[in-house]
Amino acid sequence: MAKCVGCQKTILFGATKVGDGAYCGEKCADAAVMPAFAAAYDATVVQSTPTPLPSAARTGPDDALLVDREGTKPGLVIGIGLLVALLLSFGVHLAETGIDRQLRSINLWIVLPIGALLNGALISIGFFAAIRLLDSPPRMATYAAAAVGAGLLCWLTFVASYLTMTDDNGTAIREVMGFGEYMQVVIEESQVMLGRSSRSATTVGSWGYALYAVDCLGFMAGAWFVIRAAGMKPFCAKCGRFMTRLGALMRSSNDPTAAGATLKSVHAHLAANNPQRAVDALSEFGAKDHRSYVGLSLECHGCPMCKDYTAVTTVNLAGSRGRREVEDAGARFEGNGNIGLS
Ligand SMILES: [Zn+2]
Ligand SMILES: [Zn+2]
Repeated sequence: MAKCVGCQKTILFGATKVGDGAYCGEKCADAAVMPAFAAAYDATVVQSTPTPLPSAARTGPDDALLVDREGTKPGLVIGIGLLVALLLSFGVHLAETGIDRQLRSINLWIVLPIGALLNGALISIGFFAAIRLLDSPPRMATYAAAAVGAGLLCWLTFVASYLTMTDDNGTAIREVMGFGEYMQVVIEESQVMLGRSSRSATTVGSWGYALYAVDCLGFMAGAWFVIRAAGMKPFCAKCGRFMTRLGALMRSSNDPTAAGATLKSVHAHLAANNPQRAVDALSEFGAKDHRSYVGLSLECHGCPMCKDYTAVTTVNLAGSRGRREVEDAGARFEGNGNIGLS
């Protein structure tokens, strides 16, 4: 029977393998791998002659353009985003009326507004498109407009259904009751399923107001996530445009010493603005993709106009539930030059 190389315990099943060594779990494997990785990183000395960065004045546009270059773009993003959100929320409303089922009513454990989150995210895709196409990163006003807009639209569909709905006799609801009364009925009489069968449906009563508030917050959070995702891409402030993804290189090995030494040399070359040498150093390490225990990756984004780039390195370890990133082991670099990643 196999014994853990780390703690000598007998392994019954599910050994964690690092090359030929078997460990009882990730904890023992990490304890064996990480010190060697860190020691190799610290001990490795790499000489990389710095490549000078071109001055900002030569590569970027005129300084005059740096003064509020964004101009009307942020306002345009908000306008387009809100207009698309308005159109889409009525689209969603029509679809929901058609199938007689509400997206926002999909809740996990009743209180987690999954459906409302999705709904808020869906109607905010106009913001995403406008941010990326107009090369205008989100500002506080963009977040605020998207969230408040989504919250209002969550309520506006109530107005739409009030104006269009008819009762069983074909009488328009708006002729039978006022809007306030209608909202009260819809909120207090809505039903939640506590079990799987329809018999366990319960009328929510005054709890409906809390659930409705949670729905509105779900809409707003969904919108917020979309704006945040749109702004996550690296941006070249010099040229006023989002960088394009140049690619990523992933290598892995069961040799923590080689991994530590490789990461150090990748970092040294990137710090000296020698991105291609960093790529070459990583290409020589381990095997393609993340199959072995210690994984290193390098992801680059670059500006197509001025060749400024961002390079991000990460370290990850194999695990029973997918790979785990090692916090603070990677780093982010900026520089200027050509990078060939394939
Ligand atoms: Zn062990
Ligand atoms: Zn640029």
